Amino acid sequence: MSVLDIRVLGDPVLREETTPVEQITDELRALAKNMFDTMYLAKGIGLAAPQVGRSERLAVIDVNEKAFVIINPEIVESDSKTSKAEEGCLSIPDVYGDVVRPVHVRVRAMDLDGKSFEIEADELLARCLQHEIDHLHGKLFIDYLSVLKRRGAMAKWGKEKDKYPGFVRKLEIDPARAHEHPDEEL
Ligand code: ZN
Repeated sequence: MSVLDIRVLGDPVLREETTPVEQITDELRALAKNMFDTMYLAKGIGLAAPQVGRSERLAVIDVNEKAFVIINPEIVESDSKTSKAEEGCLSIPDVYGDVVRPVHVRVRAMDLDGKSFEIEADELLARCLQHEIDHLHGKLFIDYLSVLKRRGAMAKWGKEKDKYPGFVRKLEIDPARAHEHPDEEL
């Protein structure tokens, strides 16, 4: 098990555009595995490469006990019907906010074998996919909040951020917790 440090709000890497993956290498496979380890330990349901300080266009997801990697993902279709739900982010610990997103999306991506696949997603999985794909383009859920709500979220973050010197969130490995079911942080 190899756990990576999570970058938190303030680290410029979270605002950078990622680079499309051209080739699946052993190094990339190892990165994906380490990202799963990190996500599970942090009790998340999604984690994107910039959140561990990387620039590859890749994210890992585990929603409804279905775990998979998305490489170079693209939203190819999204519903006009939207829903509002509370989101959190492993890179903005203890800050939450309601985000309106399409209920249904179709995403095209590549897997770790270099094969293209499409996924139809609703509800939580659709939300998670959109949240992670946003990360791959330097966008965060707080960007969707109204001015007032965003101000509230930033005030909360102002009290939290000193826990993460250098914008780094170090996870403690506690074997008893490592295999718990993930909750809903993205
Ligand atoms: Zn996030």
